[in-house]
Amino acid sequence: PMHRYNVNAFELFHLPIPKKGIVVGILGRNGIGKSTALNILSGNHLPNLGHYHQPPTQESIEKQFSNTIIGDYLKQLYKKEIKISFKPQRIELLPKLFQGKVKDLIKKVDEKNISKLLIDELELNNILERNIADLSGGELQRLAILACCVKKADFYFFDEPASFLDVTSRIKAAKIIKSLANENTSVMVVEHDLATLDYISDEIQIIYGHEGVFGIVSQSKSVRRGINEYLDGFLPDDNIRFRNYSIKFFDSLEKKRISKEILFEFDELEKSYKDFKLKVNPGNIRKGEVLAVMGENGLGKTTFLKLLANLETPDKGNSPKKKVAYKTQYPSSDVDGTVMQWIAKTTKEFTSGWYQQNIIEKLGLLRLLNNKISELSGGELQKVYIAITLSQEADVYAFDEPSAFIDVEDRLKIAEVIKEFMTRKEKAAIVVDHDVQFVDYIADSILVFEGIPGKEGHVYGPCDKEEGMNRVLKLLDITYRKDKQTNRPRINKPGSQLDSEQRALGKYYYTK
Ligand code: ADP
Ligand code: ADP
Ligand code: MG
Repeated sequence: PMHRYNVNAFELFHLPIPKKGIVVGILGRNGIGKSTALNILSGNHLPNLGHYHQPPTQESIEKQFSNTIIGDYLKQLYKKEIKISFKPQRIELLPKLFQGKVKDLIKKVDEKNISKLLIDELELNNILERNIADLSGGELQRLAILACCVKKADFYFFDEPASFLDVTSRIKAAKIIKSLANENTSVMVVEHDLATLDYISDEIQIIYGHEGVFGIVSQSKSVRRGINEYLDGFLPDDNIRFRNYSIKFFDSLEKKRISKEILFEFDELEKSYKDFKLKVNPGNIRKGEVLAVMGENGLGKTTFLKLLANLETPDKGNSPKKKVAYKTQYPSSDVDGTVMQWIAKTTKEFTSGWYQQNIIEKLGLLRLLNNKISELSGGELQKVYIAITLSQEADVYAFDEPSAFIDVEDRLKIAEVIKEFMTRKEKAAIVVDHDVQFVDYIADSILVFEGIPGKEGHVYGPCDKEEGMNRVLKLLDITYRKDKQTNRPRINKPGSQLDSEQRALGKYYYTK
């Protein structure tokens, strides 16, 4: 073992190995030891090799691993011969660590004198004068990535860099992070968005085991193989099956049969803030339908959901009369009591067999029922908020970025829970999300947000999924193909044969 937190507490075996000149991607469930591993590699944590009662010294750690790659690495780390730059998972702590304006922070950390370039590429120009405490999640994430990139370092670590970013920013951030790797430097990235992880990584290491109990780091694999083996739940090299089912993506462009009956209509809606104007065409949703909403940050997607849910008043048109339940974009843990208390207070159905089986169990909330809301991890909190939304009496259920902080397995479970709920109860869902794979899996139709971020937003659609995906990806200038083995969507390398072929055909979303 590399580290054990305490008696009967989580234990991590092995460590992922950074390599010069490449990006190593780390893939694994929530609570499997990814952050623990990065904290050890970045020197934030001294590993105790399992001896939590009597932690070893740096010298004995070096000795134990002498003549191994990881031993050399730790030796250099502890001798301070190598420099580390680290982007932590929890960016919401940044405003607590640094008070002041964005430009002041950037000035302070820019050791390479490249911040101008990165400010342009990450589109941070408009927020340089803003206080860090006032930034949105996406803005904070881009700032944290910039701050990590501008430091002079030999090893760069990024813990979940895609959260809160729209697809364009994900690709831009991925390109910048990728460009950090050269003959003298190494990059390691933990990420749950498979399309981003796939795009950013040169090799993959999987961490498998049992969430909250133990985690084992696999050998390094090529990207495609690593991700596919992960989805399959089987590692042929080690002859280990770590999941008793394989994650499958169905031929998702095949349409599921939705009732023709319209459940819900919305007016032409307009809403203006001081610097921002949103205009939405009228539209409707049918019983059982899941409408996905895609588009860049700052185009008014959240505002649209709030107009529907009657949390904001439109300047033109009326908020719908039907009830819309709304899951907020940033779940807050500032709720008193336990998970069970909150859910039981929200719905009378809590004790019903259907609810227990289809919501509590499928979302993995059974073991969390007696936990305090204030002590949940990001992913756990997100799942509780999804359950709470589904527990309300409503006609339409609106979810603002439900995949944030959620691992690959749970993203699919969430998608299934939401889909099944709508079909079975003859309700409808509206889901804002940036994970292309998640949207592909959950959506029946798509509403595309277009315009100028922070200034003006308008919509195209609702249209069917193929048209919507094509339109979004064309705007973003990215083509996707489908992985032959698993059907998962993959980003094509710009200029590759497939990329050119698909562009020529106008099929930005994968052809069969
Ligand atoms: P991941 O990053 O893969 O989600 P983490 O490395 O953060 O997982 O955590 C792995 C496990 O270790 C979790 O079950 C977590 O609750 C536990 N853990 C993390 N930090 C501590 C700590 N300081 N003391 C005890 N347990 C911890
Ligand atoms: P998205 O969800 O697509 O990222 P939002 O609906 O959150 O976009 O925001 C669209 C724009 O409206 C942003 O520029 C945001 O700063 C601005 N905005 C949102 N809410 C308010 C508000 N209450 N007052 C002023 N501006 C706002
Ligand atoms: Mg939003």
